[in-house]
Amino acid sequence: MKYYCLCFVLLMLPASLWAEEPHVFAHRGASGYLPEHSLPAKAMAYAQGADFLEQDVVLTKDNVPLVLHDTHLDGITDVARRFPDRKRKDGRYYAIDFTLDEIKQLNATQRFSRKTGKPVYAERFPLDGYTYQLHTLEEEIRFIQGLNMSTGQNVGLFTEVKKPSFHQAEGRDIAKAVFDVLNRYGYGADKKSACWIQCFELNTLKRFRNEFGWKGNLMMIFSGGKPGPDGSDYDALATAAGLKQLSETVDGVFPNLPRVVTWDKSGQAECSEFTEAAHAAGLRVVTGVVRRDDLPKHCPSVAALHEALFNQAGVDDVCTDFPDLSVEWLKTQQAD
Ligand code: CA
Repeated sequence: MKYYCLCFVLLMLPASLWAEEPHVFAHRGASGYLPEHSLPAKAMAYAQGADFLEQDVVLTKDNVPLVLHDTHLDGITDVARRFPDRKRKDGRYYAIDFTLDEIKQLNATQRFSRKTGKPVYAERFPLDGYTYQLHTLEEEIRFIQGLNMSTGQNVGLFTEVKKPSFHQAEGRDIAKAVFDVLNRYGYGADKKSACWIQCFELNTLKRFRNEFGWKGNLMMIFSGGKPGPDGSDYDALATAAGLKQLSETVDGVFPNLPRVVTWDKSGQAECSEFTEAAHAAGLRVVTGVVRRDDLPKHCPSVAALHEALFNQAGVDDVCTDFPDLSVEWLKTQQAD
């Protein structure tokens, strides 16, 4: 009797949910150890066993997709010193105001505070330890595909299209520019393609599916609070009905951590119904970000964080600044 029940449950689950092992998504590479988005950070994440490496992508003045977390250059480069008269009225230096050739002249480092000049994470790689050149999405794809060739693995891309509405207001189409590069390198032909596209704006994900013919995986990212710049209402989309509606377009969701789990003052995890509702809609769930040096409020340890995510909340995948810690924790579960 139990056997038939189990078979029934397995048949009811979408194939993508039970056929695949948990994935480790390296957040900006192994950014807990090396400057975010630098190629060494990507190589380290690759060697630590991450399944997917993240690229945040913005456009340059000459419309080149660039791997950079912010639309600004001033949080990780010396742009303010090199091009002091190129800031906008808000005091910020925007990647979209600089050509790739100009951006290649900048020294990039660990992330720092613009106000104090101090590193954002004091215990991480030092600001003066290493400078590097920002690189394009295409350069990173060649880097990852090169590693895939030399190792025989198939580590994937986790590509976030940053701020489509901002780019649109600047007269640009970042979604199309990112799609063109990924398509040229053979990504997005089907769900087995080693690339997830992620975005905070649902309209952009709809364009990938309906306008560009992207057949690969798509992931909706949720923030807390007010709706996104394209009107994406995260609270409404996080309901059972909203997740069902999302599943018409996307394959997975990346909720902000408090939508999935919080911890009380005694360190006990309290899980929401988000993951269950997402699974009922046939969606994979990834969340995080796991940061050893910046744990969620009242969460006692990295191990407790993983325990709550996978064994209590039931998420499928994790996004992490410390890929080795996530990979190691998942191995301990396999051994049990
Ligand atoms: Ca991102």
